[in-house]
Amino acid sequence: MELRKDPITRSWVITGDAPESSRADESVCRFCSDARTEPQVVSSMASVDGGPWSARAVVHPTPLYRVEGDPQRRAEGIYDRMRSVGAHEVLVENIRHDRPLWVASDAEIEKFLLLAAQRIQDLKRDQRFKYISIFKDHGSVAGQEFEHPTSQLTATTFVPRRVLYELRAGRDYYGQKERCVFCDILSQEERQAIRIVESRGNYVALCPYAPRVPYETWLLARDHDSSFERTALGRPGVTLDLAALLRRTLSRIRSETEDFHMVLHTSPNSLHQSDTLGYWKTIDEDYHWHIEILPILASVKSKSYTFKEVYFSPLSSETAARRLRDASPGA
Ligand SMILES: [Zn+2]
Ligand SMILES: [Zn+2]
Ligand SMILES: [Zn+2]
Repeated sequence: MELRKDPITRSWVITGDAPESSRADESVCRFCSDARTEPQVVSSMASVDGGPWSARAVVHPTPLYRVEGDPQRRAEGIYDRMRSVGAHEVLVENIRHDRPLWVASDAEIEKFLLLAAQRIQDLKRDQRFKYISIFKDHGSVAGQEFEHPTSQLTATTFVPRRVLYELRAGRDYYGQKERCVFCDILSQEERQAIRIVESRGNYVALCPYAPRVPYETWLLARDHDSSFERTALGRPGVTLDLAALLRRTLSRIRSETEDFHMVLHTSPNSLHQSDTLGYWKTIDEDYHWHIEILPILASVKSKSYTFKEVYFSPLSSETAARRLRDASPGA
């Protein structure tokens, strides 16, 4: 696998010929505490009820990104490519196989959120990484990979496209108004109170004004902060309300559909020496972390709709072109 930059949209894709799938034995869960092959544990949160652990991060069994080495960004004529250096982890949300986020206790979900925050903070110490993504794909239509309640983490040497759009928009808005666009959205939505789903403590769940999919929902904190991990790790207990709001919001969405994508958007790594981000002096003022939930409805599934922050193509364009050349062009 390698990263290639689309010279038109300037977004990076991860591509290459995936090895013929040799799926491991899926009849036994590799993330349950009694798994026969213990995964490579990166970080573990203490249990809330005396068990061995509550939430933990493990290395992805078939990682798209690998932690060793240098990205070796280089040109190939007009194109840019680099090695898929990064980190790819599975965040096991709960020790129990039957405790997804909408069933778990708020204390358990809080542990998972704190684990996510700690992993982001930790990986941001690595100057090679520009961005840390946390996301969850639930349901077969969403591309769920494991049965066990899990989210995934990637640390990448580039900022995913959607986040880059948001960062640029936030910076432009701040340049004009000297205010955070997310704070402004939140205060208008709270005033109008027609797209608010629920608020809990310092956190608000709302359906955005211009949704990409039916039941798209965002979770935002009223207190402005560009970085999720700073909020979550700043004061003990602040994520408990977020845990409750997340659980309740997912339960609501599940009354409409089983399948959804969820993604956390937080500030990029300020340690990374980047031309595009280097002059970004106002990022702490102009960006505002949030969680986005994008449900997938069976009724709209046939329409062209993809939610992908990093496109992944398990077939290289060389192989694809060769196969197309070899294929019959018809009459
Ligand atoms: Zn399991
Ligand atoms: Zn804000
Ligand atoms: Zn976002």
